[in-house]
Amino acid sequence: MIIDVKTCPDCNGAGQLRCSDCNGTGSETFRCDICDGKGYVYEKNEDDEYIQVSCSNCNGTGEISKICRNCNGAGNLNCSKCNGTGEIPD
Ligand SMILES: [Zn+2]
Ligand SMILES: [Zn+2]
Ligand SMILES: [Zn+2]
Repeated sequence: MIIDVKTCPDCNGAGQLRCSDCNGTGSETFRCDICDGKGYVYEKNEDDEYIQVSCSNCNGTGEISKICRNCNGAGNLNCSKCNGTGEIPD
């Protein structure tokens, strides 16, 4: 018996879906809470003056990026409807 298959409507036959958590980028970006997203912090120097220094927590970017836990940095996930095959039995 031949089993008819059709293209999976969820992934359009690709077998993979873009990770919605990271929008396919594979990483999630968070605002740095040390500098509140500004990229710099104020530090006292030897003369007791506040000086603006680059935030070491985020390297001055104001953002921290982490590998997306949902897709493990891949940016996409196997389609659960078709198990990554792109086809489902008709
Ligand atoms: Zn920072
Ligand atoms: Zn992801
Ligand atoms: Zn699918």
